Amino acid sequence: MSTFKAPKGTYDLTPPDSAIYLAVREAIAAPLKRSGYGYIETPGFEQVELFSRGVGESTDIVSKEMYTLTTRGGDELALRPEGTASVLRAALEANLHKAGNLPVKLWYSGSYYRYERPQAGRYRHFSQVGAEAIGAEDPALDAELIILAVDAYKSLGLSDFRLLLNSLGDKECRPAYREALQGFLRGLDLDEDTRRRIEINPLRVLDDKREAVQKQLVGAPMLRDHLCEACKAYHEEVRALLTAAGVDFVDDEKLVRGLDYYTRTTFEFVHGGLGSQSAVGGGGRYDGLSEMIGGPALPSVGWALGVDRTVLALKAEGIELDLPAATQVYAVPLGEEARKTLFGLVTELRRAGVATDFAFGGKGLKNAMKSANRSGARFALVAGERDLAEGVVQLKDLESGEQTAVAFDAVVSELLARQG
Ligand code: AMP
Repeated sequence: MSTFKAPKGTYDLTPPDSAIYLAVREAIAAPLKRSGYGYIETPGFEQVELFSRGVGESTDIVSKEMYTLTTRGGDELALRPEGTASVLRAALEANLHKAGNLPVKLWYSGSYYRYERPQAGRYRHFSQVGAEAIGAEDPALDAELIILAVDAYKSLGLSDFRLLLNSLGDKECRPAYREALQGFLRGLDLDEDTRRRIEINPLRVLDDKREAVQKQLVGAPMLRDHLCEACKAYHEEVRALLTAAGVDFVDDEKLVRGLDYYTRTTFEFVHGGLGSQSAVGGGGRYDGLSEMIGGPALPSVGWALGVDRTVLALKAEGIELDLPAATQVYAVPLGEEARKTLFGLVTELRRAGVATDFAFGGKGLKNAMKSANRSGARFALVAGERDLAEGVVQLKDLESGEQTAVAFDAVVSELLARQG
């Protein structure tokens, strides 16, 4: 232990568990990579205003949870609390939308920061893999993204998750609905904070988790009944495409999500084994965001899946990923001469693609064999002076205990063959 600990609300990823996180990121990215999404990376911090304008002043994310800082040069920056605003900013800055190929499809993977009250599944530093499809209004694009997320979860073996689906309407129908909802909400018995929310973001009140609030919401006007014809038709098509793809969903007319930029399609994936922090991923359409941050009209849709919670979901379902052994071969030299020869062989094996490790630090045979077993390697390569004199190394199968002498120049091909 050093004097220091990981800051509150954060945790370190260390081997062997860190391999699970890497595998989860890769599993989420795989369906995107084969669907035309290109990789994008943006800075860990941005101008505060990108988020206050993009995500919305009235959201918890911006008003309570952002890590902001003033640089020595006087810039107001924020550690990124989410990915969409940054990715759209970067796409606009690079003029990707002008290259003539819309939608611009991008995926990303990285760290995000929110000053939240830490608890199981809720951290101040967490990890997401996300995807954005920028510059097209097409229900098939919404469906594509949802299908790719479902396929990612399924490829990990997850099954105890549900897809909640809603439409938030657009600039045609939402304003009138918003007013109708405000009229209803103003008549309720609500605390100061919630009353303020009625004025800035009334839809969020529908999402209030408190029972006392939920009880009063019975009979509230529902957006479903206020959607314009275009939004209705759009949503019906998304639903039909999902059904045709064999994707189950639950219509959840109260699903609003915590970010202001959503229009039309919104969705969330919830997992049954995670307790109160059950959202493993979510997203939706954000047709107005580009204009909100000073860009042209670019209707877009995207999602972000939480890596931390996906790992928790795997644990909850008792799923062990089939990860390749970090080390396949472990080399154990006996004596100085053998050290040099075996170290050379180790390099050759690695270059041939065999994951190989070496007994460093001049360990004795007993200790070195213990390390070989701990490494998870299937084979040990052992060589002493007599072996060197005969031009061989001993190849030991650590599962069966069987040992055979193999000529130096046949070691690589022998191990490649045994790997199958
Ligand atoms: P959001 O943008 O808030 O919908 O977040 C998308 C996903 O990121 C969520 O469904 C979670 O899986 C994950 N996520 C968001 N906030 C946190 C957090 N504080 N700790 C861990 N995961 C989070």
